[in-house]
Amino acid sequence: MITILGGGIAGLSLAYYLSNKIPGKKIIILEKEKNLGGVCRYTHISDKLFPICYHHIMLSDKHTLKLVNDLCLEKELFWVKSTMSFYKSENYYTLSSVGDILSYPNLSYKDKAVLIVFILKCLFGFFDRIDYSIKARDFIIKKTNKRVYLEIFEPLLRFKFADLKDGIMAKWVIERIKVKEANSMFGFLRSGNGSIIDELEKNLRMRGVNIINNCLVKKINLSKNKSGNFVIDAVNNNGELNLYSNKIVSTFPWGEFIKLIKNPDEVGLNQFRNIKYTKAISVIINLKKKLNIPYWTNNLDSRFKIGGFFNYPSKSSLVYLAKYVSKFNKGDDDKIVSEFMKICKLKSSDIRDKRAYLIHNADPLPDNFYDLGQLNKLKKEGMFFVGINTLPFKTNLDSAIFSAKSAVKGLI
Ligand SMILES: Cc1cc2nc3c(=O)[nH]c(=O)nc-3n(C[C@H](O)[C@H](O)[C@H](O)COP(=O)(O)OP(=O)(O)OC[C@H]3O[C@@H](n4cnc5c(N)ncnc54)[C@H](O)[C@@H]3O)c2cc1C
Repeated sequence: MITILGGGIAGLSLAYYLSNKIPGKKIIILEKEKNLGGVCRYTHISDKLFPICYHHIMLSDKHTLKLVNDLCLEKELFWVKSTMSFYKSENYYTLSSVGDILSYPNLSYKDKAVLIVFILKCLFGFFDRIDYSIKARDFIIKKTNKRVYLEIFEPLLRFKFADLKDGIMAKWVIERIKVKEANSMFGFLRSGNGSIIDELEKNLRMRGVNIINNCLVKKINLSKNKSGNFVIDAVNNNGELNLYSNKIVSTFPWGEFIKLIKNPDEVGLNQFRNIKYTKAISVIINLKKKLNIPYWTNNLDSRFKIGGFFNYPSKSSLVYLAKYVSKFNKGDDDKIVSEFMKICKLKSSDIRDKRAYLIHNADPLPDNFYDLGQLNKLKKEGMFFVGINTLPFKTNLDSAIFSAKSAVKGLI
């Protein structure tokens, strides 16, 4: 039996690939929430399935695109060409080409030249061998200058990492620039991107995968019992559960996982105890009118604390607002909504509906290099790790699906 801990995209896609390879194998998924999908779980809006946080697919997300095809959702897929924009002082700027940067009014020509050289050097691999201990702030100031850092990079790091921004590795920024999200095609599903989760769930239930939702895992004993099984204690609607499984795969965030282990030292897990996570506030607002703003806007305006907003290409005029934080404060969601209304000059009567979600473990914080590749080499037979937690710098759907695919061989 294989027990998968967590019903996010990593856990669900793992069950999908396993049941393709070994049909009939007993597979169980344990998920604490009522709805599957984890960070990418969905909500119904106008009979479509929208993820609770903005989600788009990139052309380079080949594992996600293959899964979309396998689930027969390819006809649903459509692409929107968009440039990432930056909001400052009532204006939207794009900074995706040399021409864009040169026409940006808030930096001198000298600073713009410095910024362009820095970006080109990142793209062409000049900094690829950088030491993981070097922090983004120090590195960017050294390679550009303080004005460029404060004008462009500091707000972007603040959006993604809030007050933890000064600890972020320079390597993360370099890798992120290379993804070239600034000028790209963004993919969406007509039925809503949440339909990937919905289709996976239907498919897995049809194949006999035992999905137990509302099921909180409370303890895992990594010392196998006499029959060679791990013992998992969990609780669901029917009360306490004791599960015995000879293979377990965790997709849980590290902090959550390690807390559940009776004996983390035994398998060298303690080295991962300090991996921190960012938290995210996501608000979906359903407007009565379509806004004429770009798909993706990052906020560079220090008067506002909102991180970014995403004008979804949907008939329902949805906008996702996002802000990453290190801890949640009451009323944060209302604050970012009122900031957004100010930025877009909206009245309360323009909003049909709004929903706010708090994501407790949004992304592992790239403040330190963890040799996550070592995870699956930990000497504990039958214990595997999958999900965004296992791939440094790559925290998206595609990397979660890739990590699931990569684990299949070891599990069969
Ligand atoms: C705001 C935001 C926007 C994003 N936008 C994009 C995007 O546009 N494109 C993209 O590709 N990616 C995007 N991502 C990233 C993507 O959503 C994640 O990388 C991916 O969903 C992670 O999947 P996972 O299965 O590894 O982890 P998770 O989704 O975190 O799954 C882990 C599961 O384990 C469950 N769990 C945890 N503890 C327990 C327990 N004790 N008992 C039982 N169950 C438990 C959780 O409930 C969860 O369902 C975004 C993320 C955020 C936060």
